[in-house]
Amino acid sequence: MATLADSPSHFARLPHPAPADAAVRAEVLANPGFGSRFTDHMVTIDWDEGQGWHNATVAPYGPIPLDPAASVLHYAQEIFEGLKAYRHPDGSMALFRPEANAARFNASARRLAMPEIPEALFVSAIEELVRADAAWFPTVEGGSLYLRPFMIATEAFLGVRPAKQYKFVVIASPAGNYFKSGAPAVSIWVSDYTRAAPGGTGAAKCGGNYAASLVPTAEAFAKGHDQVLFLDAAEHKWIEELGGMNLFFVFADGSLLTPPLSGTILAGVTRNSLIQLAREEGLSVREEPYSLAQWADDARSGKLIEAFACGTAAVVTPVGKVAGRDGEFTIGSGGPGQITGKLKARLTAIQRGEEADGHGWVHRIG
Ligand SMILES: *Cc1c(COP(=O)(O)O)cnc(C)c1O
Repeated sequence: MATLADSPSHFARLPHPAPADAAVRAEVLANPGFGSRFTDHMVTIDWDEGQGWHNATVAPYGPIPLDPAASVLHYAQEIFEGLKAYRHPDGSMALFRPEANAARFNASARRLAMPEIPEALFVSAIEELVRADAAWFPTVEGGSLYLRPFMIATEAFLGVRPAKQYKFVVIASPAGNYFKSGAPAVSIWVSDYTRAAPGGTGAAKCGGNYAASLVPTAEAFAKGHDQVLFLDAAEHKWIEELGGMNLFFVFADGSLLTPPLSGTILAGVTRNSLIQLAREEGLSVREEPYSLAQWADDARSGKLIEAFACGTAAVVTPVGKVAGRDGEFTIGSGGPGQITGKLKARLTAIQRGEEADGHGWVHRIG
C-alpha cells in the first residue's frame, strides 16, 4: 500500500457544507488585519508509532477534539511555522520558499522530540489548503494568505517522555498589515528578560518560546514601545532578536550586519533571503555579534544609519528608536531608511510576482 510519505497527495477532501457567506468574506478580505479571521478549511494529518503519518484530510475549519491529558496541554510539545501565499498579477497562486519552512519545521521537531514530516507532505498540505481556500486572498494592497502549520502531541499520557501520537495541522488566515499602528518605524524596548539560553530551544520555532516572551512584550507595550528586544542570556550584552523577528544593522559605509545563528536565534527565512539580496546589490553582509553598547555608540556617531527587523508576518520593519534601562537612542532620522526600503521593495516584489525570481524561491501552486 502506498504510504503518505511515498505519495504525499493522498488527501481526503471534505468540502465545507456551509462556507462563509460571500458578503462576509468580502468584508474580511477588504480589511483582514492579522491572525483573527480564518478560512473555511484546515488540513490535519495524524502520526502514531505504528502507522507513521496517515489520515491526511482537508476538512471544514473547526475545533480539534483533544483529550484533557494530551501531552501538549501539559508539557508544551508544540512547534509551528509561518509562511505566506500570494496571488500574483497573472492570477496564479504562489508560496515563498516553503521548502525552507519544511526543513526548519523538521529541525524544530528534532529539538522537541517530535516526529519529522516528509518535506513533500508538508508542502502538499499547504498547497491543498490554499487550493481549497483560494477565494480567501485579501483584496487590500499588500495582502496575502498567511499559513500556519503546526504540530501538537495528542497522546493522553501524563508521564514525562516524548508522546507517541501527534497531529499536524495547517490553518490559513487572510493578512493585511501586521503592525496595527502601521507606523513607518517601530520603537523597541530592550528587555531585562532573556528569550533563549545556550543549549535551550531558541533556534526552534516552538510555542513555549513565545509563552516566555509575553511578559517582556507586555512590559514593552506598557512602556509605550512596539516590540521587545532580547539580549543574550549569558552576558546580557549581545543583541539577539526581537520577540519574533531577526535584526539587521545598516552602516554609513553601505555594509550590513546581522547577529550570527549561534543556536539561540531563530534562522529566519526572511533573514536568509535578505542576506542574499543585499549581497546581490553589492552590499557586504557580516554575520557577527553586535553589542547593544556598540549599537548606541554607532547610532550616535552616525556610523550606523539604519536598522530593521524582519520576519514573514511583517516582512521588513524599520527600527526608529531603541530604549532600555540605560537610556534611549534614535536610529538615523527615526524614520524608514533608504537601504531598508530598497531591500524590502526587492523582496516583496519577488514574493508578489512583480519581479523575476532568479533564485527558485517562488513556488507556484498548480
Ligand atoms: C519565525 C521567527 C522569526 C522569523 O522567521 P521568518 O522565517 O523570517 O518568518 C524570527 N524570530 C523568531 C523568534 C521567530 O519565531
